[in-house]
Amino acid sequence: MNGPDRYAVIGHPVQHSRSPFIHARFAAQCGHALTYATIDATPGQFESVARGFFADGGKGLNVTLPHKEAAARLADTLTPRAGLAGAVNVLAVRNDGSLLGDNTDGSGLVSDLVRNHGIVLAGARILLLGAGGAARGIIAPLLEHNPAELVIVNRRRDRARELSARFAKLGVLHAMGYDELQADAFDLVINATASSLTGELPPLPPGIVDSHSICYDLAYARDATAFTRWAEQRGCDRAYMGLGMLVEQAAECFLLWRGVRPDTSAVLSELALQK
Ligand code: NAP
Repeated sequence: MNGPDRYAVIGHPVQHSRSPFIHARFAAQCGHALTYATIDATPGQFESVARGFFADGGKGLNVTLPHKEAAARLADTLTPRAGLAGAVNVLAVRNDGSLLGDNTDGSGLVSDLVRNHGIVLAGARILLLGAGGAARGIIAPLLEHNPAELVIVNRRRDRARELSARFAKLGVLHAMGYDELQADAFDLVINATASSLTGELPPLPPGIVDSHSICYDLAYARDATAFTRWAEQRGCDRAYMGLGMLVEQAAECFLLWRGVRPDTSAVLSELALQK
């Protein structure tokens, strides 16, 4: 099919996504003609809808919750970081027609933490909430910065344990359920659960943050999420939402698809003004 190259984000839910706006801005900045849509697909529909998109000439998909692990199974080839994560947030068609799966979530998060917010990860005690597709992608890039420890906590603790075993060689990792968390304030608490999407909070015990703690919610909302509100109520030093991560990971996807990494600063400023 002729016309502009077609891209989309596939997830469930997906209507809230700011990815179409971000990729439209990147395309304008780089002078590329493309379209970028949202596709809502349930877990039962994911594989056939994604295959149909590519069979119809689509060039690339972003994959969001809850499909990142299914996307890793769909790809013909995985980049090393996607293979390590066992989760894919971007699929691209290669010249031979096969599908490449990559994971840019971790580099997007670390760019936002370190470059945009000036957070030092070396030596930090980090608490990671959640063990789903997003958590899988961010553990190795965080460990590359040599934190003192990374504690993974999840409702279903077996999933946290599986991730801790998977990444054990890369750093100091612990896995547990929420009821095992000690009242000992962390330097950085990252919410990689889907709880904010329904306005809920994970069952966080008191004492895991104090005034020096920085909190980061991968989710984002117009004003605040339940998690960033919780952090502010506890007097945490800083609380961020994941829009910066979204923009940085999107720039890595654009690079994979289009061969150029757009400048993220203009889009970041524009999104900050829209809040
Ligand atoms: P996912 O694969 O569906 O995983 C969901 C995770 O959230 C699981 O660990 C699940 O725990 C946990 N969870 C769900 N509801 C919870 C609740 N009420 N309390 C405690 N834990 C709860 O989703 P995902 O792809 O990892 O995405 C997670 C979040 O990250 C979403 O909000 C997504 O929008 C966000 N995200 C943002 C970016 C960005 O660029 N800013 C990138 C990726 C993801 P169980 O295993 O116990 O069910």
